[in-house]
Amino acid sequence: MNNKFNLLNLDINQLEKIAVDIKLKPFQAKQIYKWLHEKMIRQIDEITNISKESRTLLSEIAYIPYIELKKREISKIDRTEKFLFELNDKNTIETVLLRHKDRNTICVSTQAGCPVKCAFCATGQGTFHRNLDLSEILNQVYIVNRRLSKENTNITNIVFMGMGEPLLNIDTLIESINTFSSEDGINISKRKITISTCGIIPGIERLLENHLPVELAISLHAADDFKRNGIIPINKTYPIDDLLFSLKNYQRLTKRRISFEYILIDDFNLFPEDVNNLRTILKDYDHVLNLIPYNEVEGVPFKRPPENKINNFFNSLKRYGINVTLRREKGSDISGACGQLKEKNRSES
Ligand code: SAH
Ligand code: SF4
Repeated sequence: MNNKFNLLNLDINQLEKIAVDIKLKPFQAKQIYKWLHEKMIRQIDEITNISKESRTLLSEIAYIPYIELKKREISKIDRTEKFLFELNDKNTIETVLLRHKDRNTICVSTQAGCPVKCAFCATGQGTFHRNLDLSEILNQVYIVNRRLSKENTNITNIVFMGMGEPLLNIDTLIESINTFSSEDGINISKRKITISTCGIIPGIERLLENHLPVELAISLHAADDFKRNGIIPINKTYPIDDLLFSLKNYQRLTKRRISFEYILIDDFNLFPEDVNNLRTILKDYDHVLNLIPYNEVEGVPFKRPPENKINNFFNSLKRYGINVTLRREKGSDISGACGQLKEKNRSES
């Protein structure tokens, strides 16, 4: 299978060349593209509007890739589903489906492991293996969407908030956004696609260069460089002021509200000085600040603060006019946050 073309990794121009090889007209590449990305088929034989002969020829030179579902957990509280997939090289990644009344959001991984190694994050504690390729990112969405279609529903929103740092896999990320938002594919508007990033400035600039006005969620988690350096090592390369400068530009050009994510860690980032620093940072932005009580990770010393501290912090930010929300994690009964399903699986095996 290895020397065949991976059909989900090909763009329309590459498909056109293949179409000619299998005795089709170049324009029929678009039909194949639609079968792959709109209908999300599993087998080449499902392409019923090309001849049997062309299908046979196609199967000889190309295949539709797959990632294997190894484990699935469903929250009894809110039906959040976590999927653990195994890739061809045995690396595993996770994908999460979040169900809301009016939308289904899928949380997608972009890397196997993460090189950023944030001190609080389960994914960051493990080994970084590699970037995912395009087909591995697409397949997370297509496999879950195929399951949803059996319930007569579908994915409406995509968040790149699973394992890995999306902006460190920027070329493939851009290709995946173009594919997801294509009218010949699953057709999810860029407004419904969110990238969560620890703040990779060149990646933010690439999104602008490629005219991809997606939603940005910035994992801030600390409001001064000293604290942020301590938990997000890449802050030493892209310090807060430089990141803010780049975000200003992003907001000016895209007119999008920027989300700032702030996990609440006990005795670390809920002091009056943090409220002040957040106010200074956020006042120049159309913003929303999402507070997320820390999800404790085995072997990591950080703790979730008690409810009264969470509420006091929330109220002081509100008093200062910050547009703040307190997010209660969905699926809290099934392995918690980012990377934790995979970590749990590893310790069980
Ligand atoms: N690498 C990207 C996207 C993946 S992490 C980023 O860092 O933004 C997705 C989100 O989960 C980030 O905001 C991250 O900081 C947060 N996160 C990681 N571990 C967590 C934990 N144990 N509890 C709560 N949030 C966590
Ligand atoms: Fe990587 Fe994001 Fe986890 Fe940091 S929080 S280690 S950037 S996945």
